[in-house]
Amino acid sequence: MVILDGKKTSTDLKNEIAEAVKQLKAQGKKVPHLAAVLVGTDGASMTYVSSKVKACELVGFNSTLIELPEETSEEKLLQEISKLNNDIDIDGFIVQLPLPKHIDEQKVIMAVHPDKDVDGFHPVNVGKLTLNLPTFISATPYGIMELLERYNVETSGKHVVVIGRSNIVGRPMSILMSQKRKAGDATVTVAHSRTKNLKELTLQADIIVAALGIPEFLKGDIVKEGTVIIDVGITRVDDTTKKRGYRIAGDVDFETVSKKASYITPVPGGVGPMTIAMLLKNTLQACQNK
Ligand code: NAD
Repeated sequence: MVILDGKKTSTDLKNEIAEAVKQLKAQGKKVPHLAAVLVGTDGASMTYVSSKVKACELVGFNSTLIELPEETSEEKLLQEISKLNNDIDIDGFIVQLPLPKHIDEQKVIMAVHPDKDVDGFHPVNVGKLTLNLPTFISATPYGIMELLERYNVETSGKHVVVIGRSNIVGRPMSILMSQKRKAGDATVTVAHSRTKNLKELTLQADIIVAALGIPEFLKGDIVKEGTVIIDVGITRVDDTTKKRGYRIAGDVDFETVSKKASYITPVPGGVGPMTIAMLLKNTLQACQNK
């Protein structure tokens, strides 16, 4: 069994990006600039955003963090987005999701200019992804593809079962893996909350991408020998033995599944760190596209 080490791979990637930034500087070119908008004080969102800002510093990007209070109106947020769209120094920006309930998330996603949409959530970029055209691929699926590529995991002709159909993980993942591309060419089944015969499907799978958000959902008894396991889940589970009072759990029961897997991503240290690295890669791309 091989651990798909997202921590190490993302460090390699960040080093490569830092090198690219050095070269841009040496050529007197612009350094990539990422902005992040955070509305409210949700603990997990604050952690994610601060990791993204820190990662920018690490690779030599400029970064701007815009923190807005929970009660910010949709109109005010759209104004901030418009400012970022028009700011020529900002190459790309993200609006951290989820947003407070009074703000229409889809409206916000649509307001981000597709050329600066380094999260790859805008319908123009999702459309391009679907057509296998160059675009910003949303960071989590992009990170998984990168991990599979770097570890030379064979995907061609394999049966992939993606559990979860969300717009940011499951859906794009299923599209990417079915495409004619590296880490693609697979036959893909998308399972979701209404899927009736999940066990039948997972027992047939060569690769399973678990992205449903239920801690330790996937157990060893519904996985066949030699399966490649990608665990996307990140859930805070109460744990009094930890100083902070919780631990991070994936969607895979590592204990039982790792005994059968050929490759597996751990949680933490698998898909999570890759997500941030790919956001940086998209931002570098946005800067170079100019
Ligand atoms: P989501 O809640 O938007 O979607 C969950 C999906 O799982 C839905 O499509 C639903 O139909 C499906 N589902 C729910 N119960 C199911 C069941 N019993 N059987 C089969 N399918 C079921 O979640 P999301 O945004 O896609 O995130 C999924 C998980 O991945 C969460 O834990 C989230 O925190 C994590 N996540 C991690 C990263 C990362 O960087 N590692 C990024 C995004 C999301």
